[in-house]
Amino acid sequence: MLTKIITETLVNESNELIVRANKVAIITHMSPDGDAIGSALGLYHFLYSLNKEAIVIVPNRYASFFDWMPAISQILIYDETKEQVDQLLPSCDLMILTDFNAISRIDKLKEVVEQFKEKKILIDHHRNPENIADVIISYPTIASTSELVFRLICRMGFFETINHPCATCIYTGMMTDTGAFTFNSNSPEIYFIISELLTKGIDKDQIYNNIYNTYSTDRLRLMGYTLSEKMEVLLEYKTAIITLTNKELKRYNYQEGDTEGFVNLPLSIKGIVFSVLIKENTNNVKLSLRSRGSFPVNQVAATYFHGGGHINAAGGESYDSLMQTVEQLKQVLPLYKKQLEISEF
Ligand code: 5GP
Ligand code: MN
Repeated sequence: MLTKIITETLVNESNELIVRANKVAIITHMSPDGDAIGSALGLYHFLYSLNKEAIVIVPNRYASFFDWMPAISQILIYDETKEQVDQLLPSCDLMILTDFNAISRIDKLKEVVEQFKEKKILIDHHRNPENIADVIISYPTIASTSELVFRLICRMGFFETINHPCATCIYTGMMTDTGAFTFNSNSPEIYFIISELLTKGIDKDQIYNNIYNTYSTDRLRLMGYTLSEKMEVLLEYKTAIITLTNKELKRYNYQEGDTEGFVNLPLSIKGIVFSVLIKENTNNVKLSLRSRGSFPVNQVAATYFHGGGHINAAGGESYDSLMQTVEQLKQVLPLYKKQLEISEF
């Protein structure tokens, strides 16, 4: 039996909105990760099992290692299907937002959400959610939004309705947001939920392979180059910084998602508790920050790089050059020296 994490009021309010809806628009964040897609598609399959219609809309393209996910081809990528989305939305009578806490995380979909006339539910696990929905289900202690989707479905009394594709999507989100259950994953209830999902017939070993063992040759070579040439280790600060320029990414035929996981690699060095990947995009510089132990990377991201996230995994951006961003980060490190010193690994 699971602990009742989501309050009775939130469960009842969501239940009422979902049961009376006919067509639901599900929206998740920019550069959607496994939890974004898993929670959105999990809801999509759930709603279809309730004989409702659903559409999933994401701001921009997802990585190709999600291509196998059930119904992924039904996702509307707003960058590429703006007119279709704008035409479809007025026919939706409920909107569910998943896996983000700030409207800025959905890029151009911001206006779509703000102009939507019907009710909205937010399901998320990031701290301090903005007031962007009528029902806000926000539990930062829960490791993934997909887990919250499972909990909500069960609490509404629909465990039996969860089918194989729904369970597969939920499991994918739970797995990817915990690094395949290697961080944020000490809650026994996670494994209770997995056992429930296994009763739905999911193949967890295959899901792992689909996500982590389907990369291109170029991606593996880019990883090799990054580690040998582009990783700076600052032992004094227990920190490693990886930088990648546009030119380097092009050289390795970069595809969306190819650098996923790179930022975690330096954390396998003994003594490193803080790792940052700084990558040149077309319009800005994107930072991914990871840590071990108590070092709060979301604080660094929010204070210096217009970002946020979780204590051990955060992101941000900079409009300075790549080199200037690296310099800025290096200037910040001494301010955190004490916190870095005491952070366990
Ligand atoms: P990643 O490094 O995988 O892009 O992001 C890790 C986590 O940091 C995400 O799950 C998200 O919570 C947060 N994050 C990433 N980029 C941003 C950003 O630009 N702004 C904010 N507020 N959070 C971000
Ligand atoms: Mn998430």
